Amino acid sequence: MIRLPTASTTHAHPPSAGRRLVLQGGASLALLQALGAATLTHLAAATDAEADTPPPAPSRWQNWSGLQQATPARWLTPADEDALREALARTQGELRPVGSGHSFTALVPTSATLVSLDRLAGVVDIDPVARTVTAWAGTRIQALARALDAQGLALRNQPDVDVQTLAGAIATGTHGTGATLPALHDDVVAMRIVTPDGRVRMLRAEHEPDELAAARVSLGALGLVTQVTLRVVPAFNLHRTVWLEPLEAMLAQAPALAARHRHFEFYVLPFTGYAAGIRHDVYTGQDLALPQPADEDVLGDLKALRDWLGRFPALRQWVAQRAIDPAMREEARHRSFRLLSSVRATRFNETEWHVPRAQGIACLREVVRRIEQRNEAFFPIEFRYVRGDGAWLSPFHGRDSCSIAIHAAADEPWQYLLSDFLPLMQRHQGRPHWGKLHSLRARELAALYPRWADFQAVRQRFDPQQRMLNAHLRQLFGVAAA
Ligand SMILES: Cc1cc2nc3c(=O)[nH]c(=O)nc-3n(C[C@H](O)[C@H](O)[C@H](O)COP(=O)(O)OP(=O)(O)OC[C@H]3O[C@@H](n4cnc5c(N)ncnc54)[C@H](O)[C@@H]3O)c2cc1C
Repeated sequence: MIRLPTASTTHAHPPSAGRRLVLQGGASLALLQALGAATLTHLAAATDAEADTPPPAPSRWQNWSGLQQATPARWLTPADEDALREALARTQGELRPVGSGHSFTALVPTSATLVSLDRLAGVVDIDPVARTVTAWAGTRIQALARALDAQGLALRNQPDVDVQTLAGAIATGTHGTGATLPALHDDVVAMRIVTPDGRVRMLRAEHEPDELAAARVSLGALGLVTQVTLRVVPAFNLHRTVWLEPLEAMLAQAPALAARHRHFEFYVLPFTGYAAGIRHDVYTGQDLALPQPADEDVLGDLKALRDWLGRFPALRQWVAQRAIDPAMREEARHRSFRLLSSVRATRFNETEWHVPRAQGIACLREVVRRIEQRNEAFFPIEFRYVRGDGAWLSPFHGRDSCSIAIHAAADEPWQYLLSDFLPLMQRHQGRPHWGKLHSLRARELAALYPRWADFQAVRQRFDPQQRMLNAHLRQLFGVAAA
C-alpha cells in the first residue's frame, strides 16, 4: 500500500498520519463512486429513496445543491392530466414546472405557482416493434431504465445520475458521453404538452416537426410536458474500464479514444498532473461483474490535499504524484443502465460548457490552467463527448461537441465558476448547459443559437401571456418584467 509521504519527507503535515490517498492502487472505485459510477448497493438505495418520496409539500423548495430556493404561494401536484388542466384553469400568474430539482440555475424558483408532475410517473406504452416508449413526464430516468430493461430494451445513453425526471432532463439538454451519441432529447419522437390555458397539444416528429424541435429543449417555457415518447434500443451490456494516465498523455489520446469507444470520458484531477479515463464498450460475454464497493472517500482526500497544501501548488502536485498508482486499472461488466449512471454523494455547484468538438482539448487546457491558478479548487474537471442534433435550443444544435464541467463544493464559494470561465468559453464559442451555472443573457444567447427567434415565436404562440417565465427566464429570453 502506498501512503502519503510523512511530514519528515514533505515538511508539511498530512491530515492524519498514514491516511491512504484516494488515487493509489485499488482506490479507483472510490474515485468513480465519488464522481459517478454506482455500485449496485448505492443504486438500489437511491432507487428506494426516490420511489418512497411523497409528493412535495406546499412549502419551501430548494434544488439539489441548495443554491436555488423558493417559497411558492401554490404548489400543484396533480394526479393526472385532467387534474392538471383543472388546476391550471383555477390559477393566474406565473407558473413554473419542477422535476427532481437537479438544475443549478434558477429555472424553477417562483413565488407564484410551482407545478410538480411527480405523480404523473410510469410507463404508458412500450412499442417493441417501433422500439419506442411513451412515459409520463414525471418518470425518473432510473425507473424508466428498469422498466425498459424488463422488456429487453434500454435508453441509448444515460447521464451521470439517473434521478432526474424525464421532462426535466429533456428540458435542459441533459446528456451522457459518447462521440456518436446525442443527448437524451434527440431520441424524443413525440411530446404531449398542456399549455397554461389548459389546452393539450400533441407534438409528433412527422406532423409537428417545428414545434417538436422547439419543445425538445424548452427550459420548461412552453407549458407542462405530460408525456414523452422516446426511441429506445435493445438492452445491452457494457464493459467498463477505468484507468489513470498522465494528463498530457490523456489529452493527446482523447480524440482517438473517443472515436474507438462507445462511451469515453475523462476527469482531470487538478494539481496532480493526472487524469482518470473511463470507457464503456458493448459487452456480449456472460461474465457479469459489478465493481466491489470501496470505502475510500476520493473527493475527501483531494479536498484534504487542498486543505493541507493548498498554498503550495508545486508541493501539492509532488505529494499527489507520489501517492498515485499509475498502474491502477478497474473493470466492470453489467447492464448499461447499471454502469452509466450513479449516485453523487457529495453536493456541489457546477458550470458546464459545450464547445465545438475540434476546440475541446484546447479549451480544456485553458480551463485546467485557470483552475490550477485557484489554490482553493480541488474537484476533478469532467470532459465528455456529445453528438450534435437539431433541437432549436439544444446546446449541441448543429455541432458535435465536447463538454467541460467544473465543480465547486456546495458549501464553498462558487462565483468563480461564472467569472473565471465566461470569457474563456466565449472565445471557444461555448454554449452553457441550461441547467448549470452561467451568466449569459438574451443578446449573447441569441448569437449562439441560429433558431433562437424561431423558438421565441413558438413560445409566444404556446404562452402568449408569458406565464411560464420567471425572473431567470425573462433574463435569458430578454423579456421585460411583467
Ligand atoms: C448530481 C448531478 C448530476 C448531473 N449529471 C448530469 C449529466 O451527467 N449530464 C447532464 O447533461 N446534466 C446533468 N445534470 C443536470 C441535470 O440533468 C439537469 O439540470 C436536469 O434538467 C435536471 O432534471 P430535473 O428532473 O431535476 O429537473 P429540474 O431541475 O427540476 O427542472 C429542469 C427544467 O425542466 C423543467 N421541467 C421540469 N418538469 C417539467 C415538465 N413536466 N414540463 C415542462 N418543463 C419541466 C423545469 O421548469 C426546468 O426548466 C446533473 C445534475 C446534478 C445535480
